[in-house]
Parts: sequence; structure tokens; C-alpha cells
Amino acid sequence: MKPVRPEATEPADAVARRAVAPVVCYPVGSLPRPDLAAYRAAREGWRKVVETVVPPRDARCFDVPAGCFFRIVSVEGPQVGDLNLWAADDLDERFFSGKTRALHGTHLSTGDRLWSSLPHLRPMATVTQDTLDWYGFDEWGGSVHDVIGTRCDPYTHRLLSGGDYHHCCHSNLTRALARRTGRSLAEAEPAVHDVLNVFMCTGFARDTGRYFMKASPVRPGDFLEFFAEIDLLGALSACPGGDCGAQHSSDAVACHPLLVEVYEPKTPPAGWAPPARNGYARGHGA
Ligand SMILES: [Zn+2]
Repeated sequence: MKPVRPEATEPADAVARRAVAPVVCYPVGSLPRPDLAAYRAAREGWRKVVETVVPPRDARCFDVPAGCFFRIVSVEGPQVGDLNLWAADDLDERFFSGKTRALHGTHLSTGDRLWSSLPHLRPMATVTQDTLDWYGFDEWGGSVHDVIGTRCDPYTHRLLSGGDYHHCCHSNLTRALARRTGRSLAEAEPAVHDVLNVFMCTGFARDTGRYFMKASPVRPGDFLEFFAEIDLLGALSACPGGDCGAQHSSDAVACHPLLVEVYEPKTPPAGWAPPARNGYARGHGA
């Protein structure tokens, strides 16, 4: 946290140094833009092939073949979901929250992509509809569907409170992945990674830069819809924080299930092909 009373003396040109205008780190003008009209046209006549209910304070895995859509749907009450994605044939290729943030910003919405880890770095999924896109950024700088948090986990909980809590999203995702893959918990845990915080409303306090959360604006019927660019294994945890308006890592707050729906289009979007892995030859200058 930035100090209230800095120790270092402000230089004479401090005002000028602060006044330097920022530049965007990663201009994304060169990225091929997803053809949203083609994606949406492919929904015409699509068929729901499977539904997965994620119980409160627990997680479930789900499969989405490349070329299909999936929706994460709010049911019963406001609830935040922590999403992990892997390439179905290689769990080492997984969602890269940090680079997705660097490319698209702190919070995702329609047209943004979920990028995979190095050295793969390709779109795993594209957001094709977001019923909460009306929220924008609120007066505190908060917004929905962030890639700035990590996931609630029992290690940080123990660090801060001293107790053990076993239904943090990290543990929920670990149990779900272990069940799905037949791995032990110890084998599954390292594959769990930083999440997309679906429906969570978060930001950084302007004065201190600290990470904050507030009650999610999601209501039953809201959904976030994705198109699977590659064959995906997903895992979704219904966070023990519920709407994350008060606390997480406890059984104290109201928690609701989440629904994952997978849809198969009659034909893939016009002009779509699964993206290749990143073309860098991994020479690293050696
Ligand atoms: Zn959580």
C-alpha cells in the first residue's frame, strides 16, 4: 500500500513528472477482431447439449468442444463464479489471467478473449454476450467480470485469520479437477490457476490502489456467454462469498448455485477456424 506520509522527499519537478501522459501498454489494434456478427448468427437454431449445476461452495468441471458456446447463468440469487479453463488435451495450456488483463483491461466483456498461458498464447474462448455490460464502471471504479483477483484460497485465509476453511474456490476447483481427471488432490492442485471472476464486482481503490469487492449486480437470468475457440475443459466454483458483498472464505453469507449450459450450433460461425498455438519458435536468442 502506498504510504500516507512518504519518506522520500518530493523532487522539485514532481508535478511535471506526474503530468506525463500514460500510453497503453499493449495496443491491440493489430489483433484480429472477433467477428461477433458471425458468432451470433451461428446461435440461430443451436441446440443445448448439456447443463451442469454448480452447487454453492463447490465446483464442477464441464467440457466444451471447439466451435460450441457455453453460458454461465445466474440462478436463484446473486452469486459470483470463479472460472478456470484448460485445453482439453493438455492441462499445461491454461487460462492466462495476467496477459488477458494486459491485453483487454481489468474487466472483460463482449468481444474480449480469454488467452492461454505461454508458450501457447492463443484465444481459448471469446466472450460473445454479457448481460451485465450495462454496468460499465461505477463511481468507485468498480466493474464486473474481473481478471485482477486471483481466487479465494485456504492459504491466504490461514495467513490472515489463522483458521482452516476448505471451501474456498481454490479448494473447490482442486477437488473438481481431481474428480474429473482421476488425479490425486496433490496432483490436481498445481493445475488450478488465476481465474476469471464471473459476475464479481471489483476494482482498485483510487487513493491506495487496494483491491476491493462489492455486492455483485448480477440477478437470476443474467449470463456471460462464451464461444470455445479450442476444445476446452472448464471448472467453475460457486464462491463461498456468494455475491461477495461482505466477505468470502466462510459459511456465513448466502450462497447460490450457478448453471453452465453448453450449446452446439448447427454450423460453425462463418469464416471461423480454431486458432493455432503461438508461432514464436522459442529460440529465446540463444
Ligand atoms: Zn471464491
